[in-house]
This record gives sequence, structure tokens and C-alpha cells, in this order.
Amino acid sequence: MICPRCSNEVSESSTSCPSCGTFVEFSNVRLAERPEETAALELRYHEALAEADHRKALDRVRDFETAVRNQSQAVVAMDSDILIGLVRRSNTLFTNYQLLVRAQARQAALVTNDQRRLAVDGAMWGNLGSEIRYAALSLDHRGLMSYGNCFATLRNLNIEHRASVLETNSYDFVQASGGGKLPSGYRSKWEKRHLVAVAKCASLIDGTTAASAFPEILMRTAPTRSRDEFIEVHIHGAFDFKAIEAVGAVEASDPLDKDMIRIAKAYVVGAGTKWLEFS
Ligand SMILES: [Zn+2]
Repeated sequence: MICPRCSNEVSESSTSCPSCGTFVEFSNVRLAERPEETAALELRYHEALAEADHRKALDRVRDFETAVRNQSQAVVAMDSDILIGLVRRSNTLFTNYQLLVRAQARQAALVTNDQRRLAVDGAMWGNLGSEIRYAALSLDHRGLMSYGNCFATLRNLNIEHRASVLETNSYDFVQASGGGKLPSGYRSKWEKRHLVAVAKCASLIDGTTAASAFPEILMRTAPTRSRDEFIEVHIHGAFDFKAIEAVGAVEASDPLDKDMIRIAKAYVVGAGTKWLEFS
């Protein structure tokens, strides 16, 4: 991309011009907006609609598209101790794996897992990986249980300018490419997330699908991460508790976890933030 101020070429992984410091765009959003990405996604989206029309499911797919465009939000799942840290002190930032390891605030995962994770980050983002926070696209404030039983819904206002989405878990996406070039047409900027959702999910919707089924069509959570099915949200940069619109938890069976959720709830409600109960 060309810097609008000094006309210098700015690399895809930079948010600002190295010559004059002008902010250009969040890199993950820029990567999703490359012409080959948007053209390939438009093609997949229109193919999905045509196929739905052929099956007489177009109206229902259009309803699903509207729901995703107007109601879907980014939800981060976490354990109760992480949630307490986030809601208890206003200066706590939600962080990511790479930053925690680098700050020596957590141990690296088992060596093979760590290598895989860094390789996935490298393939997806180059040196931008440490800037990306991950969430899942949700229609009902639920997150992925395999990442924790507490769910924080992020305010669109705080992320829509710096978020992009990917059709699936970036782990699976990179692995499926077998180390080759990542295919185009599977990601978008935040405002176009309904195109990714239709391209991915239209085949799961028929002429009788009820709107109440849409949340589970968009996100199917499983006990293990490898079996989760969801649209991954990538957020450039940090966020704190003020970026969170609503918090909820699935009741834990462990008594200690129950207590931690009760404490987190007291802080969340005390701050005037919405608390949601999930079964
Ligand atoms: Zn410049």
C-alpha cells in the first residue's frame, strides 16, 4: 500500500508508514481487503446463494445473512481466573499467548504445540502475530467452551474498525494449506462478515430451518478445540474490560470455579455491565 502522506510503500504487516509515521490501516483488515481476497469471497458468496436458490432455501439463507450482519458479535471465551483479572482492575488488558510467553507470564505450551502455534501465526500474519487477539463470531453471546466457560461479548464500537474474520480456526486453515499459499476468499473485514458466514453455512440451511437454529449453525462448540466449528475473529491490538458489553458463564461443577464465577459476576454487575446466565 502507498502512504497517503509521503507516497512511500508500506508493507502489509505495518499499520503505519515507516518513513513518516502516518497511520495507514490495521494490517489484518488490510490483508482481508486485498483485491484477490474480496473477489474470491464474492464469488463463493454468490455461488452459495445460487445453490440455496436451487434448493428453494434462499429466503432462509437471506434471513441468516441478515442476522449475522446485524446481530453477530465477537465473543472471547476464558477461564474464570482470567475473567476475574480482567473485571477486577481497570488497567488489566486481555492478552494473547505470544505476549504472555514473551513477558514470562506463562510457560510455553509443549514444544510441538508451541512450534505449531508459532508456525500458524507466522503463516497467517508474518511478524504481526503478536498483535492479534482471537475471538469467535456468535449470535447468542456464547463462546467456545473448549477455551473456557466464561464468555465476554465485545462491543462492536471498540473492535469493528480493527477486526477481521476467517471462515474457520486459523490452526485448521493453515494446516489444510499443507504449508503452501493460503487460499483466498475465506476472510473479510468486520463489515463483510456476513459474506463469509453465508459462503460457509448456506449449505447447512434448508427451506424449513428456523431462526432459532441460526446461532448453532454459526458456531458449534465441542469438548475439544479440534472439533469446534466457528468463524474466527481477529482483533488488532489490546482491549480491556471497558470494551466488553456483556459477560456470562456456564455454571461450573467445580465448587472453586463456582466461587470464582460468583466473584467475577459481582464485579461485572457492580460495574454496571450486563451479566448473562447460560445453561
Ligand atoms: Zn509516509
